[in-house]
Amino acid sequence: MRYTFVTLFPNIIESYFSDTILKRAIEKDLISLDFVSPRDFSTNKHKKTDDTAFGGGAGMLMTPQPLYDALSSVKEASPDAHFVFLTPVAKPFVQNDAKRLAKKEHIVFVSGRYEGIDERIIELFADEVFSIGDYILTGGELASMVLCDAISRNVEGVLGNSESLAEESFEGWLLEAPSFTKPQNFHNLTPPKEFLKGNHSKIRSLKFALSKSKTKYFAPERYKRAKSLFFTD
Ligand code: SAM
Repeated sequence: MRYTFVTLFPNIIESYFSDTILKRAIEKDLISLDFVSPRDFSTNKHKKTDDTAFGGGAGMLMTPQPLYDALSSVKEASPDAHFVFLTPVAKPFVQNDAKRLAKKEHIVFVSGRYEGIDERIIELFADEVFSIGDYILTGGELASMVLCDAISRNVEGVLGNSESLAEESFEGWLLEAPSFTKPQNFHNLTPPKEFLKGNHSKIRSLKFALSKSKTKYFAPERYKRAKSLFFTD
């Protein structure tokens, strides 16, 4: 999987990939990253990439020319690349999107800054637009890293143990049951006894019960849907 980040601030993103699982994925050639800065394509003599918005309003917008030329250059070199724009004005990104996008060969993440991007650029280039939640960030870089991280976990070989994917929250309708590790007694709190005994069928049914309680509490709509599909109590 190749990722291209189109951003005015590549440094913000680079450091995220310099450790742990994603670093190993790069070393094993399972994923690769490159960066394109719209500023390098600006024809303005001061390399300006923003301007005031037509119709007024506070703040500046990213101007179309540098982005158009930057994105055209990426498209020309990689005609099948999938262009993803990050914006709060979009459908929320979910786990199924991560799994679906993990099958692509080349994803281009386009991050806005200032008050966002001239809408015509989104119309001209976007294959998909995603929000990561109902709040406003200062730029799209964090959002593109969120997507990239979630997608990469679903790229074949990136996680050592693919079973860990299958058991996670959002893989099914229920959220994951609580997990515990050593020591057995921590500040006088102990895991449920069944977890310590090794009877796998009892552990499975306890985890199922705990999953249901967690989902009912934290994601009631999800719980209702799961209940209507898979169980009665
Ligand atoms: N004026 C815009 C609005 O009200 O919808 C917000 C622009 S925001 C300050 C600048 C950039 O941050 C956006 O172009 C987008 O790339 C990114 N961004 C902000 N919040 C986001 C979110 N919830 N999801 C994805 N991207 C976001």
